[in-house]
Amino acid sequence: MSLINSIPEGYKSGFISLIGRPNVGKSTLINKFVGKKIAITSPVAQTTRNRLRAIITSETSQLILLDTPGIHKPHHLLGERLVESACKSIGEVDIILLIFDACFSPGKGDLFILNLLRNKNLPVVVALNKWDLLKKEQAKIRFIEYQDLLGNCSWPIYPCSAINGNGCDFLLEELQNKLPLGPQLYPPEMTSDQPQRILLAELIREQVLLHTRQEIPHSVAVKIDRIEELPGKNQNTKKNPVIGILATILVETKSQKLIVIGKGGSMLKLIGQGARLEMQLLIDGPIYLELFVKVSQNWRSKPSRLSELGYQGD
Ligand code: GDP
Ligand code: MG
Repeated sequence: MSLINSIPEGYKSGFISLIGRPNVGKSTLINKFVGKKIAITSPVAQTTRNRLRAIITSETSQLILLDTPGIHKPHHLLGERLVESACKSIGEVDIILLIFDACFSPGKGDLFILNLLRNKNLPVVVALNKWDLLKKEQAKIRFIEYQDLLGNCSWPIYPCSAINGNGCDFLLEELQNKLPLGPQLYPPEMTSDQPQRILLAELIREQVLLHTRQEIPHSVAVKIDRIEELPGKNQNTKKNPVIGILATILVETKSQKLIVIGKGGSMLKLIGQGARLEMQLLIDGPIYLELFVKVSQNWRSKPSRLSELGYQGD
């Protein structure tokens, strides 16, 4: 059966790019919209590496959200690929969701992004995220500051919080309204276009960033070596099989390896425990996880290594 045949008249679909500086909450907002964690987030800037597509299907529309790496000044090959990928997506979508961090007054970086979008002739919706962190008086001032920044661009502005969900429904509704007519492009049950292997690797990388903070900034990559179904406790019913996952954490130096492993393996244990919990939510079943740490010098500057780990330059 063709999917397109089953689409009611007036169905809408389209691509939406989330654009914003690093750390404004793009990935958190995607997870809020989708209702589960498919994009990793972290207090450390530049967490997102892959161009993830999140898919939100309703009876009347299908939105395909592109989570892009934040726009910033690149320092090495990986950085260049990330910025390339963010800028390229601007020209390929139906709507731009421009996200600002409302904790801060608009700055030079925000103006830079605004100028990238100003003459593109694309519908833009603006989200002022992290609104939960503002006091009432502050919020009033901040709203006016961003209104002034946007000047004569008549883009709708939505204060919201990707953490507690306030304002997110209105934002989603606005995006749905602005979609062009079109068929369902993905099966309705699909929420992400990333292979599970990449999602699982990302959940481990998230825990490394979370627990090592500034010490292992961006020199870490994760490779899933093996995923296999292990027999569950109840062999007869074969219910709840355990999924065994073997993965390698790649770092750039020996000292980083020592940090990731920690005293007597304590850090690696923390990382493994955190990742296992997140993976169980994703897979909805028990996980057995084994982690290795390996030094792979300068992996960020080697095109073959980048491609192997899934960081395509497109
Ligand atoms: P990205 O780089 O734009 O993808 O940003 P992330 O989604 O990784 O978020 C960066 C940090 O901001 C994380 O620590 C999030 O928990 C936090 N964050 C994101 N959205 C909100 C929000 O609405 N309110 C608050 N208080 N924190 C947020
Ligand atoms: Mg992100």
